[in-house]
Amino acid sequence: MTILTLPGTSIFESLESEVRSYCRNWPTVFDTARGSWITDESGREYLDFFAGAGSLNYGHNNPVLKRALLSYLERDGITHGLDMSTTAKRSLLETFEDTILRPRGLPYKVQFPGPTGTNAVESALKLARKVTGRESIVSFTNAFHGMTLGSLSVTGNAMKRAGAGIPLVHSTPMPFDNYLGAGANDFEWFTRLLDDTGSGLNRPAAVIVETVQGEGGVNVARPEWLRALADLCRNREILLIVDDVQMGCGRTGPFFSFEVAGIQPDIVTLSKSIGGYGLPLALTLFKRELDVWSPGEHNGTFRGNNPAFVTARVALEQYWSDDHLEKSVLDKGEFLEHTLAELARGFRGVSSRGRGLVRGLAFEDASQAGKVAQYAFEHGLLVETAGPQDEVVKLLPPLTTTQDELEHGLGILIDATVTVCAGQEA
Ligand code: PMP
Repeated sequence: MTILTLPGTSIFESLESEVRSYCRNWPTVFDTARGSWITDESGREYLDFFAGAGSLNYGHNNPVLKRALLSYLERDGITHGLDMSTTAKRSLLETFEDTILRPRGLPYKVQFPGPTGTNAVESALKLARKVTGRESIVSFTNAFHGMTLGSLSVTGNAMKRAGAGIPLVHSTPMPFDNYLGAGANDFEWFTRLLDDTGSGLNRPAAVIVETVQGEGGVNVARPEWLRALADLCRNREILLIVDDVQMGCGRTGPFFSFEVAGIQPDIVTLSKSIGGYGLPLALTLFKRELDVWSPGEHNGTFRGNNPAFVTARVALEQYWSDDHLEKSVLDKGEFLEHTLAELARGFRGVSSRGRGLVRGLAFEDASQAGKVAQYAFEHGLLVETAGPQDEVVKLLPPLTTTQDELEHGLGILIDATVTVCAGQEA
């Protein structure tokens, strides 16, 4: 049978599934990209404050990583390696230990769980259940952990959950920081349920948490809240999983987003920017005594993405051998914080939030966030919306974005907000 592309429609509409999403908000065909800029087929350039949903912390086609990748391919370095030992994997593991784990005193082993964030989350949940012999997991309101069934069961969003088509079980949501508003006593509900044999809460194997909920609307957990959660887990022998898939690799400043709280999670998931170049790679890190896997008990074909091992290693060498990047993320983050707070103060029903280089502009009228994002696109800036009602415009620029680029992007965002919120001036 020949499938015809109808006049006026594109191959994307006629052949690609209705499930596609980002392309609907940014209706153009992208072709090339470099640094913080992405260019469409007509040559129009957009400043990219989306950065592959946090997978491009070092920018598009970062020249240092590209050079390493090209020379690796040129010399016929292994591309696909399952979990065989390779030169590229050894170099990455050594660099990760020397640059990231040892300086932070983190006693983790490293698992390659498959290349996506949800692969890392699934392996973390399985391991927590295997170690403890318990089934249930505690997650948080507005959490996002991925689209496979285990990850969906600890994800909040009703639309995404409904996509599972079967009951999502063995998980219980608890209020994230500030969910019940200022003044609520942190963890009062959780501890009461844990301590009350009549509560109906099964003793959980683990708690899974994002330190800043990216997809959930840029909700920031306070360091003291994270510390209290870590204490609660330790005191009751519940494993603490920090899902750092989006907020890790320097997005909030330090390499791991939990460093600000001085906690040491039992299990950590990493993906998105760990590959450095936008190549798929994920890591599950866990304390050594938790390494109870049997050989091959959790395997998969694409755990050995060796080109990504190369770009991951070079990114660590380039950006994490000293604290330059961390400091510049914190400085630029502060600049964004001030600018967005001032913008938000100018309008009723608008507020700002975030940490480091993940920032949100929240609109009480959720439709305004979509309008701001659309205006931004039309004026050359890519920003996405997040939150249960898509009420938050989310800024996720590459960490390598220059001050000039930040100011340029913010200029468009300010114009967009002024236009969309006309009549709401405070
Ligand atoms: N965890 C978090 C915190 C995420 O933000 C995401 C992706 N947005 C995932 C897990 C899932 O990652 P992936 O889409 O690569 O499966």
